[in-house]
Amino acid sequence: MNDTTPTAPVIRLAHLYPDQLNVYGDRGNIITLTQRCQWRGITLRVFPLDVGDAVDPDAYDLFFIGGGQDKEQGEVARDMRDVKAANVRAAIDAGTPLLAVCGGYQLLCHYYRDAEGEELPGIGLFDAWTIHKGKQVARCIGNVALSWEGATLVGFENHGGRTYLGERATPLGRVLAGHGNNSEDKTEGVIYKNAYGTYLHGSLLPKNPHLADRIIALALAHARGESAPAALTPLPDDLEWQAHNVMLRRLGLPTTDRPTPAALAR
Ligand code: GLN
Repeated sequence: MNDTTPTAPVIRLAHLYPDQLNVYGDRGNIITLTQRCQWRGITLRVFPLDVGDAVDPDAYDLFFIGGGQDKEQGEVARDMRDVKAANVRAAIDAGTPLLAVCGGYQLLCHYYRDAEGEELPGIGLFDAWTIHKGKQVARCIGNVALSWEGATLVGFENHGGRTYLGERATPLGRVLAGHGNNSEDKTEGVIYKNAYGTYLHGSLLPKNPHLADRIIALALAHARGESAPAALTPLPDDLEWQAHNVMLRRLGLPTTDRPTPAALAR
């Protein structure tokens, strides 16, 4: 290779606690990101960050953290606060994108009070908190759909904790069917800068290619040192939108057209 050969773009993804937080196919979200990058000639490099590993706030273009049972959340919560919190926060404040699912989402809020009433510390990145009201209270389980930026997001949720957003928090979307954050106020997930928290599990990115591409566009811009999301080559995505619309139909909701590239570039 000489100096004039363009190098293929690389996105560096930090995967937080892949061994503990990986329920309901959350790892499938990373497979989706990897494949959608590969189809466009972008390399997605995944760096697992386990208990005890320090976080270099400048070393990654994207963070991902999946869901987990209360037990696994307990194993990582203290490490998250004592070892990783400051630098994860610094990276997100500087605009690095992040996707957090369910148990991981809960740990990025102020705290998670588990089914036994024990409070796991969160890192307070999102102005929200989560309360599990005890094993006798029904869990929030099932398919879910929400409105998101003029389009819809679909997925599967399974959580005992109910998350409540503080005044500084912006929900990711509005629940059209299912439970969302707490089954009460119709909010689902949260957004802070380029960080997204959600209860939607591993079918999230395969069935929501517009969200997958939003995340890739933000991460690619970060890799290039740009602030506006990068323009991405559109992919066919017929299968992905079919799967998306099957979920909407199953929930008794009208199917939606795929968002236009202009809407996605916002
Ligand atoms: N243990 C948490 C709860 O039940 C998170 C569950 C999950 O990640 N699926 O609320």
